[in-house]
Amino acid sequence: SIGLSSPVAAGPVAPGVYCLRVAVDVPLLALFDYLSTVPVEVGVRVIVPFGRRKVVGVVVGLPEAPAIDIALVKEIDQVLDDTPPLSADWLRMASFAAQYYQRPLGEVILPALPTALRKVSAYQGKLSAGGPVQRLDNRKPVARRDVPPDVPPQLNAEQAAAATAIAALRQHKTVMLHGVTGSGKTEVYLHAAQQVLARGKQVLFMVPEINLTPQLERSLRARLASVAGSGALAVMHSGLSDGERLRAWLQVQRGQARVLLGTRLSIFAPMPELGMIIVDEEHDTSYKQQDGLRYSARDLAVWRGSDLNIPVVLGSATPSLESWNHAQTGHYLRYTLAQRARDVALPEVRLVDTRRLALQQGFSPQLIKAIGERLAAKEQALVFLNRRGYAPVLNCSSCGWVSQCPRCTAYTVLHRAGARRNILQCHHCGHQARVPAACPECGDQDLKPMGRGTQRVEEHLAELFPQARIARIDADSTRLKGSAAALFARIHAGEFDLLVGTQMVAKGHDFANLGLVGVLNADAMLFAQDFRAPERLFAQLMQVAGRAGRHVKGGQVIIQTDYPEQAVYQALIRHDYPGFAGYGLDERKAVGLPPYAYQALLTAEARQLAAALDFLASARRLPAEQATMYEALDAITLYDPVPLRVVRVANVERAQLLVESTNRRALQQFLTTWSAALAGLARDFRVRYNLEVDPLEI
Ligand code: ADP
Ligand code: ZN
Ligand code: ZN
Repeated sequence: SIGLSSPVAAGPVAPGVYCLRVAVDVPLLALFDYLSTVPVEVGVRVIVPFGRRKVVGVVVGLPEAPAIDIALVKEIDQVLDDTPPLSADWLRMASFAAQYYQRPLGEVILPALPTALRKVSAYQGKLSAGGPVQRLDNRKPVARRDVPPDVPPQLNAEQAAAATAIAALRQHKTVMLHGVTGSGKTEVYLHAAQQVLARGKQVLFMVPEINLTPQLERSLRARLASVAGSGALAVMHSGLSDGERLRAWLQVQRGQARVLLGTRLSIFAPMPELGMIIVDEEHDTSYKQQDGLRYSARDLAVWRGSDLNIPVVLGSATPSLESWNHAQTGHYLRYTLAQRARDVALPEVRLVDTRRLALQQGFSPQLIKAIGERLAAKEQALVFLNRRGYAPVLNCSSCGWVSQCPRCTAYTVLHRAGARRNILQCHHCGHQARVPAACPECGDQDLKPMGRGTQRVEEHLAELFPQARIARIDADSTRLKGSAAALFARIHAGEFDLLVGTQMVAKGHDFANLGLVGVLNADAMLFAQDFRAPERLFAQLMQVAGRAGRHVKGGQVIIQTDYPEQAVYQALIRHDYPGFAGYGLDERKAVGLPPYAYQALLTAEARQLAAALDFLASARRLPAEQATMYEALDAITLYDPVPLRVVRVANVERAQLLVESTNRRALQQFLTTWSAALAGLARDFRVRYNLEVDPLEI
């Protein structure tokens, strides 16, 4: 296993020669020994020769002697001294992530650094001599986006109890802040954070998505400036330029920034005086990285908090069942905000049984009437539909032809708006084609869109309510950089009466004038294969429902469904997250699913499905054939390899194998041995593979 060597300086291996263990970003081993004529600390970046290239690596250990014959060990090229070394606690987290997620240390450490810190060409000189990193700062001074301080509301009793208790924690504890939508969780975070800042500590504030919630950034700036000074907030997300990302990294590493507001990648930010981590909307799947190092930023936050002995706050109206289970069993401390913070009640949730209704373009008469009433009352209404495009498929009514992606086992989606006017687009691989003038099979010209997406709903609403100003919010209408923020700013400014949107509108927005939320086609998620589908559906509907009536009284939610008796919907009517979670956990327990079992997923990709399946079948047989793994089989279940639901994407066919155990440690030990053997096997079978620990979708 790849651990970190002790970070104490080792003596020279020969007079004036030091041995360094260096992590580089290459597959497999990723740790290599080099010699240096000067002593170098652990955590320092170095340039080393690698094959015929030169690469940036990070010193992770100082072994007493190289692992191979010293005569073969190369010398480092250069010590990079433009930033402080990565700290011991940062390296511990990277090392933990490498072990836990079965990834070479170098492939964890290097990708976590801002680009400029891992490019050989970016280094331009020593820190004290005003190297690039300092010059970068002086190029563009710390952005002082001054926001006038706002007046914090008087906390209600529930908020005050939670904030006081969290701020009083002087050691590690994971706190679940379970607050209904609009209960004012943000105020609790802010109050607790202020106290931590006042003690001279830094705060990491994680959110699933930043661009969509400039409101939060504004309140953070306004509220925290008095404690930490303006300019003390840094922001980190994947939409930043390399320079902006580097600047934020350096500001927190040097302690200039006291608060870091960031998406999942910010869990890897170096924060020498970290005193608290807040994970807002902790259930959100955006916290899971879906390629490379497939980490959960939420889980790493809990690990980091425990390692640093500082509190971690997980907030949500709909916590993940994993976290809820920890709260139920007393692992986590729980605070509940059961009431909305403003003087408004939770919206009334109504189910419209669509089984015997004549729907008009997907709309029930009840929903259309309710929208009309809200518009007449000068309130906003929102129609939620988690499907973008005009229609999910184009169909020939004479011969039954359907539009299909030539590269994927999936339909192509009809798009009819904006730049993508009248095209068929594959939402899996991005393939685009013109809409054919006639059926490619039979020549009939009567091609019909089947089903509906946000564009078609928008079109229909425009016909029904010609006076209404309609905004569509989905990945298509917000493709350009900055356009999402601009669109939301206009919505908040009251420029629209009717909103049509995908899950993008469900997250975190505090709409002032929104009275009604209508939900179309929720049933689509009800019978998905994934055992987490009901949990996700409940969370999504609860979140979008929570946008209704946050400021205006009499908020209402209308959900159209063919299955009103389903537990998900029944719990929603009662706003009963605990009831739903209890039911969900009982079910999981009965069949031995997470959080009562631990899982890992091996996915293989090949030109031919057979190759992927053969590889997985061999991987499955390995433990029975190798003594080092044989014993582990007592505690581990390896399921049959199966093709993915969408088998082919961009001409690559995919299959997966699920590994499960009720014992996390046993699973970890098994995975370490197993994954070491997989690389060779994959080469033999000519497949690509990835191993994901704690997969969210199976
Ligand atoms: P949540 O994140 O829990 O859904 P928010 O933090 O967005 O809720 O708060 C909902 C609304 O209530 C916001 O407009 C916020 O300004 C307001 N609010 C929060 N706390 C209070 C309070 N104690 N008194 C009055 N309004 C409050
Ligand atoms: Zn046809
Ligand atoms: Zn495709």
